[in-house]
Amino acid sequence: MIPAANPGAGYRALKAEIDAAVARTLESGWYILGQEGKAFEQEFAAWLGAGHAVGCGNGTDALALALRGLGIGPGMAVVTVSHTAVATVAAIEMAGAVPVLIDIDPLHYTMDPVELAEVLAHPPSGLPPIHAAIPVHLYGQAADMEAILAVCARHGVAVIEDCSQAHGASLNGKKLGTLGAIGTFSLYPTKNLGALGDGGVLATDDAELAARIGALRQYGWRTHYVSDAVGVNSRLDELQAAILRVKLRHLDAGNARRQAIAAHYDAALSDNAMAPPARRPGGTHVFHQYVVRVAEREAAQARLRKEGIGTGIHYPVPVHRQPAYRDRVALGPARCRASEAAAREVLSLPIYPELTDLDVTGVVEAIGRSLA
Ligand SMILES: *Cc1c(COP(=O)(O)O)cnc(C)c1O
Repeated sequence: MIPAANPGAGYRALKAEIDAAVARTLESGWYILGQEGKAFEQEFAAWLGAGHAVGCGNGTDALALALRGLGIGPGMAVVTVSHTAVATVAAIEMAGAVPVLIDIDPLHYTMDPVELAEVLAHPPSGLPPIHAAIPVHLYGQAADMEAILAVCARHGVAVIEDCSQAHGASLNGKKLGTLGAIGTFSLYPTKNLGALGDGGVLATDDAELAARIGALRQYGWRTHYVSDAVGVNSRLDELQAAILRVKLRHLDAGNARRQAIAAHYDAALSDNAMAPPARRPGGTHVFHQYVVRVAEREAAQARLRKEGIGTGIHYPVPVHRQPAYRDRVALGPARCRASEAAAREVLSLPIYPELTDLDVTGVVEAIGRSLA
């Protein structure tokens, strides 16, 4: 069986280095916000090409902290997409703001900048003013940042990039997460950069903003036991930071391996007259997911399962259709119709660096038999 994701294989591939980092941290006697966390933040910021990075508890908190750090909360609205992890929308409400969900460009599955412009020029009635937009770099490649940044700048709207599926991806030579005011990253075990537990990190060039968010993640403490602001508790622990420092050193190689696997899948799909996933011009795709569209998805998924190939669906229900959000969350004029169509048809093939060439050949052959 080739599972859809395999974080255990990611650990075993780096076992000696990770075990040494864990042992070193356990022996240090310091487990929260110490040298490992600080070193990870510095190494991550340097790798990304950002001025500062701040670790936190998970990717959802990274988004909520980014919003709070920018002063966005109650009495304000934030635009994002419905075709995303529910976490993106949950974070907006955690910060106390009101989400407005717009549709995707169905080719790249990312925020439609034309509808964004429409919503910013003519906000849906009954909503507080829109103060931020959160484009999601879904599946491993960039949203249309040139257009999004331009329209947001015109309206004085802050841009937070949700990079939780795009560690290492770039657009026009710049890494995602360095284009907006803040870039946020989940470090959940299956992400391209994954901890062995929960973790998150955000990046910004603004030193003052980074310091403010660094305080917000720990009760608003500027110094110990003195809260300047009302904060939360969302810290990246030392064990995860030590593990992430190891994993960060192997991230570029892991992304290259994902790209090589994607090239094999491309060829197999072209032979079947099925379109491989579109790449945004000027961008590099790091294939957090390799997503195809299949009309009879459940049948195709069952055929692949019989062949021993696990697949995923990201995501089967758009956020505005989920019980917790439907009938109350504000939508843009396109009513998220492309998101609903995508949710019915998307299918994610296994793609992670530890897949062997033999595994990839097995998947390619199964695609030939199952998706023809
Ligand atoms: C994984 C993910 C998140 C949430 O991250 P957690 O670490 O699980 O909180 C947010 N946004 C996107 C696009 C994600 O893929």
